[in-house]
Amino acid sequence: MDWDEYSEWGKHIAAWGAEYHKTLRERPVRAATKPGEIAAQLDKAPPMQGEDMSAIMADFEAFVMPGMTHWQHPRFFAYFPANAAPPSMLAEQLVNTVAAQCMLWQTSPAATEVEGVMIDWLRQALGLAEGYTGVIQDSASSATLSAVLTMRERATGFTGNREGLSGKGHLRVYCSGEVHSSIDRACWVAGIGQDNLIKIATNGPRIAMDPVALEKAIKDDLAAGHTPAGIIAVTGGTGVGASDDLGPILAIAKKYDLYTHLDAAWAGSAMICPEFRDDFWTGVDGYDSIVFNPHKWLGAQFDCSVQFLHDAAPQLNTLKIEPEYLKTSGEAVTNYSEWTIPLGRRFRALKLWFLIRSYGLEDLQSRIRNHVTWTQELCDAIRALEGFEIVTEPILSLFSFRCPGDDAMQQRLVDALNDDGRIYLTQGMFEGRKIIRVAVGQFDCAREDVMAVHETVQDIWETIR
Ligand SMILES: *Cc1c(COP(=O)(O)O)cnc(C)c1O
Repeated sequence: MDWDEYSEWGKHIAAWGAEYHKTLRERPVRAATKPGEIAAQLDKAPPMQGEDMSAIMADFEAFVMPGMTHWQHPRFFAYFPANAAPPSMLAEQLVNTVAAQCMLWQTSPAATEVEGVMIDWLRQALGLAEGYTGVIQDSASSATLSAVLTMRERATGFTGNREGLSGKGHLRVYCSGEVHSSIDRACWVAGIGQDNLIKIATNGPRIAMDPVALEKAIKDDLAAGHTPAGIIAVTGGTGVGASDDLGPILAIAKKYDLYTHLDAAWAGSAMICPEFRDDFWTGVDGYDSIVFNPHKWLGAQFDCSVQFLHDAAPQLNTLKIEPEYLKTSGEAVTNYSEWTIPLGRRFRALKLWFLIRSYGLEDLQSRIRNHVTWTQELCDAIRALEGFEIVTEPILSLFSFRCPGDDAMQQRLVDALNDDGRIYLTQGMFEGRKIIRVAVGQFDCAREDVMAVHETVQDIWETIR
């Protein structure tokens, strides 16, 4: 393909994208594809001769698009959203075009410097104290793994990387039972082990970790000769939005000299609204590491996960490695690949710069506020359906409910709803019972889209009950 052809196809695909977005409401939200159905339509072996772009594009429409679930659909209420606001898509196209590998300052100074400034814009937007720095990662899972490795190294006097963990006893990490599975996995791969990830009981309307039980677990571990290493708190857990009371947990961490990580992957975006900060983030300043995903609720195209660090030194002492071929001369610059596990890195900050400049914080705040308001309205409407039960009240824009009947009936309703295609919801478990989750947060969703959940649930329930 030559560059003139590239330019023509670029225009064609931009027009295709605009049309796709304008007609999204007409499509079923979730792909109705059977396993293997898409693969069966593709050629079994790679072509020996090049093909025309128009043939490739036609097959994309015919074979690929029917197998896509529409995450940008305004009636997507499953999982958590993965928004891609148009200015962030445009920034990604520029990044794709220049295609730089931004591992070191000198491999693209602009990428490093825009990233530093975007971290500070977001620090201000989220009301975090001056002094927090940070890095953009691919996922919250990677940021959490970085934090857990830092806990491990800090608790072993930074000897784990060199000596391994053999003979170092049991390192212990504490969190509530409502954390995301990425915390379990981080403890697996960091060599801490599932048995040393201590899940503390939760209570109250926010399903928050019990600080008394937390301190007792730490004391018991010390008495047993174990080594407490860190605490992971959550704002907006994935299941039902569990949110810990941050101040008391941090106080315990300080008392026992433990490293703290806060997982706010989804809910962090809402902290651009001061009222949610007052409500959820009292006591946040001082957490050693905080992760949030602007790619979920804020509108930055996937992937974009921001990890704030109160002091970057412990994470750098854990992850920095400098073979000869990565040495750069002279001046003190930031080399972000030293802050993370992967070496290579994309220029992820550009989409934040485009997004925040294009909308301004006020617009982004009002979208999130609307989502929270409409969620409460929808929750009240579902509550009024005969025999339906609200299992967890809205935490920001997430709540869960049950229809009449057993767990199997909940799954039947979810499956029937998703087969219908007007909306997309997913199930979860809470206190041993199956629940149906509603997570509002698609960038362009309107009140009618949210209230469509009520109508659709009512309709589909009539057909399966
Ligand atoms: C989505 C989510 C994660 C995982 O995020 P990735 O970026 O996909 O790794 C972790 N924790 C919470 C609370 C989440 O909502």
